[in-house]
Amino acid sequence: MLDLDFFRRFLDRATRVIVAAAPRLTDLDAAIGDADHGANLKRGFTSAAATVADEPPATPGALLTAVGVHLTNTVGGASGPLYGTVLRRMGKVLGEDEVVEPETLGRALAAAVASVRRLGDSAPGDKTMVDALQPAADAYAAALAEGDVTAALDAAARAAREGAEATVPLLARRGRASYLGERSIGHQDPGAASSALLVTALYEATDP
Ligand code: ADP
Ligand code: MG
Ligand code: MG
Repeated sequence: MLDLDFFRRFLDRATRVIVAAAPRLTDLDAAIGDADHGANLKRGFTSAAATVADEPPATPGALLTAVGVHLTNTVGGASGPLYGTVLRRMGKVLGEDEVVEPETLGRALAAAVASVRRLGDSAPGDKTMVDALQPAADAYAAALAEGDVTAALDAAARAAREGAEATVPLLARRGRASYLGERSIGHQDPGAASSALLVTALYEATDP
């Protein structure tokens, strides 16, 4: 059930996996960026988790909105405003619902990806987080038409991980990595890697 506890589990797992993977995310960013992606997200998620623990939001939408506002404010770099937009946009679509319908979560994911694409002027194939997030939103919608929310989130997480892997041979067209031109080829995009971790945390939150 997609209630407040589900979204709290998501935030817990997301924070833990971002902290654990921070060195790897920073290594990926060292190859094609400025070696701060892991540290940026670690700072943002730990401080967002502490804030919502101090002042617990009452609904799933309020929780995601609070985390999004926090990420925008505390994460330096491109990924802060982009992930902030993802979470605030999802929070807005969830509205005041106490329990989120699976279809509503699908609409929230689709709207969040659209807002990142708009803000970043980015599309699939540009070697960014969009390469993990767009396939995740699409896979969720397709799998939900055939099964339940757990199956849909499982499909979304797989699609995000595959999308992140598939950024390795791409030439970066947005963000710092784009300054490298051809030299960006052969490395996984750090934001796509962190997006795959976050969508996987959403799937894992289905298991209490
Ligand atoms: P910065 O590049 O400012 O140091 P981070 O290292 O935290 O910020 O985040 C870099 C990630 O942000 C990239 O790997 C990419 O996935 C994502 N990103 C950067 N620019 C864009 C953009 N215009 N559209 C979508 N995603 C972007
Ligand atoms: Mg960086
Ligand atoms: Mg930076």
